[in-house]
Amino acid sequence: SDILDHPLTEAPTIPGWKKIAAGKVREIFIPENAAGIKSADKLLLVATDRISAYDFVLDTPIPGKGAVLTQLSRWWFDQLSGVVATHNLDEDVPTEVAGRAMVTRRLEMYPVECVARGYLTGSGLTEYEDHGSVCGIPLPPGLVEASKLSEPIFTPAIKAELGEHDENVSADRIAQLHGRAVAKNLTDLTLLIYRKAAEIAAERGIILADTKFEFGAEPGMAVRGENVADGAKSFILADEVITPDSSRFWPADKWVEGKVTPSFDKQFVRDWLTSPASGWDRRGETKPPALPAEVVARTSERYLEAYRILTGKSLV
Ligand code: ATP
Ligand code: MG
Repeated sequence: SDILDHPLTEAPTIPGWKKIAAGKVREIFIPENAAGIKSADKLLLVATDRISAYDFVLDTPIPGKGAVLTQLSRWWFDQLSGVVATHNLDEDVPTEVAGRAMVTRRLEMYPVECVARGYLTGSGLTEYEDHGSVCGIPLPPGLVEASKLSEPIFTPAIKAELGEHDENVSADRIAQLHGRAVAKNLTDLTLLIYRKAAEIAAERGIILADTKFEFGAEPGMAVRGENVADGAKSFILADEVITPDSSRFWPADKWVEGKVTPSFDKQFVRDWLTSPASGWDRRGETKPPALPAEVVARTSERYLEAYRILTGKSLV
C-alpha cells in the first residue's frame, strides 16, 4: 500500500493549508487564509513517519508509523466520545496526507503535560526511589520497576526550557500556576480517561502503563481561578491520544514486577542502537546512525500490530 511503500520524513505542501510548526514527529498546519495560529479556527495535525529515540530524531523513517499514530488517536477519540469533549472534527483530510492527518478544533492549550500512571517506571520510578513519592504523591515503600500502583496517579509535568526535559510537578503547583479549577479538572479528567482506556486495553491483553494527555479550551473559554462555567468548552481533550508515542504499552503476558518491560514499539530500535552493531555511543554527542532494514521492518510491524491488537482491525 501507499502508506507502507512511501514513508514520509517531512510533510508535503498541502493546498489550502500552511505549515506553522513542526515537532519531532508531527507537523501542524492552519487554514491558508488564517493570519496566524490565534486566528485559526482549525488545525491539520500531520503525523510523519519520523521516530525518535534517546532524544534524537532518527534519519530513518518507519513505514506506517504516522498512519498508526493518527488512526489510533482517532479510534481512541471515538472510544472516549461519551467520556470527554475532544478536539477531533472528524473531517476528511487532504489526499496529500491521507491516512496520517486529522482536522481538529484550534484550542487554547493548558501548558500542562497531564500524565497518568498505573504502573511505576521511567521518571516516576526515579522520583520514587529518590523521594518515596511521585509529583508530591506519597507511595508505599517496597515498590520496584513496573510495580502496579494500587490506584492510578496524576503526575503532571510542565515544559522545561528548550533542550531540557519536562519537569515533574505536583497538582498543587498546577493550582498555583493556573488556578484550582484547572488543577482539579485536569486531575479528574486525566484519571477518568486513563481508567477507561486502561480497561479497554486490558481487555485486549495490553497494559497501559502510563500515558500523557493535553487539554485545551475553546478560544476565550480557558479557565483561571475557581469556577468553570461550561466544562465541555473549557476542558477539551486535544493533541494525540494513547499512542505508542504518548504512552507505554506493555504486552500483559510479558509483564513481570521488578523487570523492565520492553516497550511495545521502540524495543528493536533501542536494542540495536545500544548494541555494538550500531557503533553508536549513547553518552556521546553524535546522533545515531541510520537503522538497518531489518530493524525498520520489525519496528514497522510492531506499530501495525499495536493498532491491530487495540482496534481489532488491520490498518492496511
Ligand atoms: P514533541 O515533538 O516533543 O512532542 P511538540 O509538542 O512541540 O514537540 P507536537 O507534539 O508535534 O510537537 O506539536 C503539537 C503541538 O500542538 C503541541 O504544542 C500541542 O500542545 C499542540 N496542540 C495539540 N492539539 C491542539 C489543538 N487542538 N489546538 C491547539 N494546539 C494543539
Ligand atoms: Mg508534543
